Amino acid sequence: MDRTETLIEARPPAQVELTSFHDKDTSCVTRSPIAIQLSEPFALPGIDPGERSYGLEELQNRAHPEHSCATQALFRALGAEIRQKQDTASFLKIYPVHEAFGTTRQDVEQTLCIWLTRIGWRYQIFGPDEEGGGWTNPDFRKASYQTKTVWIYQPADPHGSFRDYAYTLAWRVTHEIAHALLNDGLTADYGIVGRRLGRLGQKKVYRANGRPTIATSPLTLPEALRAIEWEHRVFPKQREILETEFGVRISEEEFLRENLLNMADATYRVLTGHFSSPGDLGVVPLPVNREDVFGRSTGLLWWAARELGLGTLQGSGLGLRHRRVSIPIPVSDNNGARVPREHFGWFEGELRRLASGFRKHHRVLGSWDGGSLRDEWVVLYEVTIEAQQTRELVALAEKARGVFRQDVILIEVTAVEKILLGPTGFGRSQ
Ligand SMILES: [Zn+2]
Repeated sequence: MDRTETLIEARPPAQVELTSFHDKDTSCVTRSPIAIQLSEPFALPGIDPGERSYGLEELQNRAHPEHSCATQALFRALGAEIRQKQDTASFLKIYPVHEAFGTTRQDVEQTLCIWLTRIGWRYQIFGPDEEGGGWTNPDFRKASYQTKTVWIYQPADPHGSFRDYAYTLAWRVTHEIAHALLNDGLTADYGIVGRRLGRLGQKKVYRANGRPTIATSPLTLPEALRAIEWEHRVFPKQREILETEFGVRISEEEFLRENLLNMADATYRVLTGHFSSPGDLGVVPLPVNREDVFGRSTGLLWWAARELGLGTLQGSGLGLRHRRVSIPIPVSDNNGARVPREHFGWFEGELRRLASGFRKHHRVLGSWDGGSLRDEWVVLYEVTIEAQQTRELVALAEKARGVFRQDVILIEVTAVEKILLGPTGFGRSQ
């Protein structure tokens, strides 16, 4: 469980010989075993029937006694099977890398060397030295994507690898080269450079033997989402490299299972700042549809971010401490009966209490086509609240769903800057 932390990704590769999966038709892809109710407070369902659910504290705090169970719940929520009290590490090396690279360290180093020379890239190793005595930090001033170099976490470290230097090296070098080749596209789409150290919404201090202590600022939601989409895009790229450059034959099922394992580990990493140890937790990745996995991973991050009071624009600058929330309330309930006036009175009283006031737009037409065209008259409320009140407002909206007898209620949250103008000049409100 206690693995050395790394500055760049050092996810262990994974290999599986799971006969039960090989019997199946590979086109049969597992879909959404667990529906996550994103309007609820963050809670991952437990594995066993009747088991409690797990919140963000258990998941983000590795010292918490329930952390292992919470981590299992996370992997399960993203589509893995959990085998309690079973070490599944030997099931986690999925790609048949040895076929093309050979089984010894020398074989793999030589195969990689020929390829890297051809494409003009190289790799350097960071982390503990092979004897476990010293520690090398990656020096990005001397070697980075700019100089066509990727940094690979020490494959000889038994904590980070699956005790198979050759396999680990082949997996990591092809994976990190894929990361490098796709990095610019992600930077353009998100408007931020990649960050992989730290955890969502919480400071993180890394302490490990033989290396300097590093304190990191909290990851923002956009940084976390960028990291997850980077993994999502890297996966087909790494497969392409392994198949077309090295002739590794990867089945759709192997690809989907590797993808799930990698995405679940990346989600765990963004939430905790650490690499996971899926083998110790009995994790067996299933061949889940890639878009489903991406949707669940990012859904979990949005869910966690809301729990932490983070806005989507957090980290973009000063003045984004406020959230504008718009809440449309239909004037009739689901059976077409007009909503009693006192219900609106109750809701407005709650908004005054929570947000000290509101803006009310009477009789706004809501129209949508959800299979059949539907028009509905709504009252649209707008409030501006402190970012950290978002949870309270979501709880109020949930209560209102019952009072107004609605199947669903939509609230839209935006980060806004609030500027008050008055006799003393102007200034940002607190
Ligand atoms: Zn990666």
